[in-house]
Amino acid sequence: MKVGYIGVGNMGGPMCRNLIKRSNHSVTVFDLNPAAVKTCTDLGATAGKSIADVTQGADIVMTSLPMPRDVEAVTLGDNGILANASKGQTYIDLSTNAPSMVKRIGAAMAAKGIAMLDAPVSGGTVGAEAATIAIMVGGDKKVFDDALPVLQSFSANVIHMGELGTGTVAKLVNNMMAFCNAAAAAEGLMLGVTAGLDPQKLVQVIASSSGNSSVFKAFSERALSNKFSPPSFALNLAHKDLHLAMELADELDVPLPQGSATHNLQRMARRMGLGNDDSSAILQVYQSVLKK
Ligand code: NAD
Repeated sequence: MKVGYIGVGNMGGPMCRNLIKRSNHSVTVFDLNPAAVKTCTDLGATAGKSIADVTQGADIVMTSLPMPRDVEAVTLGDNGILANASKGQTYIDLSTNAPSMVKRIGAAMAAKGIAMLDAPVSGGTVGAEAATIAIMVGGDKKVFDDALPVLQSFSANVIHMGELGTGTVAKLVNNMMAFCNAAAAAEGLMLGVTAGLDPQKLVQVIASSSGNSSVFKAFSERALSNKFSPPSFALNLAHKDLHLAMELADELDVPLPQGSATHNLQRMARRMGLGNDDSSAILQVYQSVLKK
């Protein structure tokens, strides 16, 4: 198949490189950052000059972009995917997007005979490198079945959730849980360390106790090194995800007391200028309070 890939950053990069290495598909890549494109062309991909270049003639076009507004611009904007795609092509969004935006883009694509799947991913950059990420897919089952070999080239862990938008809802639920978990880890570590415990020993004991989780593992590594940059998952993107989960909860009138507290904690960290650091930089909110 001919695959167009737009957005090869922290997540899109390793997913695209696995697609190139683990399949025979012909891959054309576009990103605003030439250095990111080079990591893919070094493995045999073609560098696209524009969205049009990547889209025209592709069987499948994929995006892995930061914000819903970026996905909107790349799909529906001037000379975007919609303007350049033709009937019979499939568009797959791997970004964490808003369910309402996914449906709006899907409807615009459908009007031109272009199929769409939302396929957000979870497992972080480590999972993306190792090709073990969960891919949560929404959209028509036949379109899903046809696209499955391409998705499986960057992870065997692909789950069809239901109609268009359901992959995104599953992803927002997952991330809300993960960020609440990270906030609990930050509070627990700061309590223990302030009470005089050795941080290494505290992490070691939690890792084999009921407070452990995959989130705790990644979070405690960052906490022990006290190094939050460069990010593997930027706080600004984590805050965006939780914002989208809160919006969904508002629409459905579902109370999220933990999610709401964690959303505000992330906002405090952003206000401290930590938005471009790793999402685990929420720890610095506690550090700054406890220093005083
Ligand atoms: P990133 O900022 O590292 O990468 C995004 C890439 O998109 C960059 O290389 C950027 O240059 C490119 N880009 C932005 N606008 C563009 C445009 N108009 N045209 C072409 N390229 C453009 O972000 P990321 O961490 O890779 O996240 C991508 C998506 O995946 C986000 O929606 C995020 O929420 C989601 N996600 C991230 C992680 C993670 O651990 N980083 C995990 C799961 C999901």
